Amino acid sequence: MSNDGVPQKSVVNNVPSSDFAKEVEKEFGGEGIMKCIQCGMCTASCMVASMADRYRPRKLIQKILLGKREEVLSSELPWLCMTCRLCEERCQEDVNLAEIFHAVREIAAREGYVPKIFQNTINKVLEDGWLLKDAYTDFVEDDRSDLGLDPKLDWNDDFVKKVKKRYFNGGNKK
Ligand code: SF4
Ligand code: SF4
Repeated sequence: MSNDGVPQKSVVNNVPSSDFAKEVEKEFGGEGIMKCIQCGMCTASCMVASMADRYRPRKLIQKILLGKREEVLSSELPWLCMTCRLCEERCQEDVNLAEIFHAVREIAAREGYVPKIFQNTINKVLEDGWLLKDAYTDFVEDDRSDLGLDPKLDWNDDFVKKVKKRYFNGGNKK
């Protein structure tokens, strides 16, 4: 506690440090995971958590810290974070949850754990070059032309192959 009564940030090494937590910590974006003190402010702040009982960011961080690798990677939960960062605004330990869950998704994707619904979305974009095909109107074409851009949104085949190789090569387990 500081002189003016404001609580200071914790400097205590308070976490169970599993191999999986260390793995996430080494992944880009996952660096802050060991700072979590499990206060629960993130869950209380999270709009996704307020809509879905099964999504609890504090608990998800706890599972990573405890080393529940298979359970976390094979779960859809890390994919439900919508990166609004409200939890990060309120976390007194400066834990960057959205980045941590992104790091977890990177590991999951490398191992073929992209949830089916996201695979379908990516496939749709790769096939059509556009997620909402009907939304690609003349207006958009005109807009692109006005900006000096090619009005066609065809995908580069090499890019498509690279994305498929990177995200779907691990043998999809979901
Ligand atoms: S608010 Fe921060 S410290 Fe508290 S549980 Fe969430 S991530 Fe951990
Ligand atoms: S960044 Fe993710 S975990 Fe944090 S409040 Fe937003 S949706 Fe919830």
